[in-house]
Amino acid sequence: MLPFLKIMVKNLLAGPSTEAFPFAPAHTPARFRGKANHDKSKCILCGICRHVCAAGAIQMRVVEDGSGVEYVLWHNSCVFCGLCAHYCPTKALTMTDDWHMAHRGEDRFAVREDSFVRYGQCSTCGSRIQPRPAVIVEALGTKYPDRFLMCPSCKRESLAKRSVPAKPAMETSETSDE
Ligand code: SF4
Ligand code: SF4
Repeated sequence: MLPFLKIMVKNLLAGPSTEAFPFAPAHTPARFRGKANHDKSKCILCGICRHVCAAGAIQMRVVEDGSGVEYVLWHNSCVFCGLCAHYCPTKALTMTDDWHMAHRGEDRFAVREDSFVRYGQCSTCGSRIQPRPAVIVEALGTKYPDRFLMCPSCKRESLAKRSVPAKPAMETSETSDE
C-alpha cells in the first residue's frame, strides 16, 4: 500500500481532530472571558467599572428626571479584559463564557446591554442616595443596617445623637450635690 493511503486510513479511523463548530457546540475553556454581564439588581452605581474600562465600553448617564442612571455596556467596544468584573465591589458585573458575538458591521451599535438603575431613598428623610440593594445589605452583614440606608447627613445626625450622653455633665453634678 502506498504510504499516503496508510496515513489516510489511519486518520479516517481516528475521526475529526478539530471542533465541528458551527455544526456542533465548541468547547469553552474554564475561566474563559466572554461577554460581560451587568446585573442591575446588585449595582450600587459606584462607577468603578466605567473608571477602569480602558476601552470606554461602559457609559453611565443620569436620566432627565434624576430618578436613576442609564447604564450601557457596548459589547462591540469591549476587549474582554475583565477589569470591570474584577473591580466591581458587589459582583454586579461578571464575565460570562458567551463568545457568540459575531455580527454585521452595520449592527455594531446594536450590540449593547442597556439597563436602568434607580437611585435609592434615604430611610429617614427620603432624599436621593446611591442604590442600596437588599442583596448587598445582607451580604455586607452590616451591624447597623438602618444607618446604611441613610443619606450622609442623616447618618451624621444619627451618629451624633448616639455619641451625646443622656444627661449633660452639669446636671449630673448638681443632682449629686443635693
Ligand atoms: S471587560 Fe474590560 S473592556 Fe470590557 S467592559 Fe469590562 S473593563 Fe471594559
Ligand atoms: S456595575 Fe459594579 S462597579 Fe459598575 S457601577 Fe455597578 S456596582 Fe459599581
